[in-house]
Amino acid sequence: MGHSMGDLDLFNPTPEHRALRQTVRAFAEREVEPQALASDRSEHFNLPLFRKLGELGLLGITVDERFGGAGMDAVAAVIAHEELAAVDPGFTLAYLAHAMLFVNNVFLNASDEQRERYLPDACAGRTVCGMCMSEPGAGTDVLGLATTAERRGDGYVLNGAKMWITNGAVDDQTLGDAFLVYARMKGAPRAQLTSFLVDKGTPGFSLGQRLKDKLGMRASSTAELVFEDCEVSERQRVGPEGGATLHMMRNLEIERVTLAAMSLGIARRSLDVMNRYARERTSFGEPLAHFGQVQRHLAESYAEWMAGRSYTYQTAAQIDLGSAGHRLDSDGVKLFCATMAKNVADRAIQVLGGYGYVGEYVVERLWRDAKLLEIGGGTLEAHHKNMTRELGHVQTLR
Ligand SMILES: Cc1cc2nc3c(=O)[nH]c(=O)nc-3n(C[C@H](O)[C@H](O)[C@H](O)COP(=O)(O)OP(=O)(O)OC[C@H]3O[C@@H](n4cnc5c(N)ncnc54)[C@H](O)[C@@H]3O)c2cc1C
Repeated sequence: MGHSMGDLDLFNPTPEHRALRQTVRAFAEREVEPQALASDRSEHFNLPLFRKLGELGLLGITVDERFGGAGMDAVAAVIAHEELAAVDPGFTLAYLAHAMLFVNNVFLNASDEQRERYLPDACAGRTVCGMCMSEPGAGTDVLGLATTAERRGDGYVLNGAKMWITNGAVDDQTLGDAFLVYARMKGAPRAQLTSFLVDKGTPGFSLGQRLKDKLGMRASSTAELVFEDCEVSERQRVGPEGGATLHMMRNLEIERVTLAAMSLGIARRSLDVMNRYARERTSFGEPLAHFGQVQRHLAESYAEWMAGRSYTYQTAAQIDLGSAGHRLDSDGVKLFCATMAKNVADRAIQVLGGYGYVGEYVVERLWRDAKLLEIGGGTLEAHHKNMTRELGHVQTLR
C-alpha cells in the first residue's frame, strides 16, 4: 500500500481519524499500559486515569462541541475503543459504559436542558456515569425488566434493582455519579419503557453488592444498584413516558459496534505478542515460526482479525448516530469479533506455551477479558436471535 495519501484507508478514513488513532495509541502505551496488570490483579478502577480521558476529549467523543464533546463519528468511537482495548480492555469497558452507554445516549435522547446539566461534566471527566438496563432477573429478555416507575405528585417514584452495572461504583463504597435507568411505568405494556436520569445522593438510591472476583474486565467496577421508593422529579425523565425503548435500541447499536472494536484491540495485541514470540523463541534449533502448526495459528489469526476489522469499520462508517437501522450488522460485528478475539488470544497463549499462562506476557489477561464480550451488551445467543429476526426482513441479499 502506498503512503502518499498519508496512510488513509478503511480504518483511518480521514486525517482526523488517523490523528485520533495516533493520539490514543500514544496515550494508551504511555499511561494505560503501565498500570494495566496491577489494576487487573487488584480489581481497581483507575479514576485519575479515567479523568485524563476527559482531557483528551475522548469521554464525549460523539457529542457536539457545544456540550463539551469532540463532535466525532462512530468510526472515531471505534478507533478509540480499539486502541485502548489493545492495552487494557477492563479500563476500556469503564470508558465505554460512560462514553457510549451514558454520554452518547443522553446526547441523542435527552432534552437540551438535560444535556446542559449532564454533558459538560461527563465529557470533562468530572463525573463517572453508567447505564442501567440489566436486572438480577432479566438480561437477554430486557423487556422483561421489573423496575417500576409510578407517578407521585409532580414526579415519579422508582422501585427495583439493577445488576451488572459498569461504573455503578467507583470504589467499594462510592456510587458512580449519574445513571440512565430504564424502567416501566406501572401497568404499561411490556414494550414501553421509560428512562430516568438518577444522581448519586438521591434518597432511595443506593449501592447494592459490588461484584468481585470477575473472570476478566477486572479494571472496571461492576455493581448492583438498588432503588427503594426513589423519588425523581419530572425533569429527570428522558423523553416521553414509554418512549425509551427506541432510545435503548438505538444506543445498543453503537454499544455493540464499540464492543466489537474492543475485541479488535484484544486480537491485534494478541497477534503482536504471538508473532514476535514465534520469531524469538526456538525449539529443536529453529524459531517456532518455522513449524506448520504455529504458522496456522498466526495465519488464521491474522486473516480472522482483518475480516472482523473490515466488517466493523465498514459497519461503523454506515452508522448515523442519530437514527436506528443497523441492527443486523451491529449484532453481526459483535457476534463475529467477540469469538474471533477470544480464539486469537487463546492461540497466543498456546504459541507462548507456559509463558502465555502467566500475567507478564499479557495474553492470559486478554483471554479472560475477551470472554466478557461474548456475554455483555448481548450474549452470542441474543445476536443469533436478533440477526435471524432481521434477516427475516431480507428477501435477497445484495
Ligand atoms: C462485566 C459485566 C458488565 C456489564 N455491564 C452492564 C452495564 O453497564 N449495564 C447493563 O445494563 N448491563 C450490563 N451487563 C449485563 C449484560 O448485558 C448481561 O449479563 C447480558 O445481557 C446477559 O444477561 P444475563 O446475564 O441476565 O443472562 P441471561 O439473559 O439470563 O442468559 C443466560 C443464558 O441464557 C441464554 N439465553 C437467554 N435467552 C435466550 C434465548 N431467547 N435464546 C437462546 N438463549 C437464551 C443466554 O444467551 C445466556 O447464555 C454487564 C455484564 C457483565 C458480566
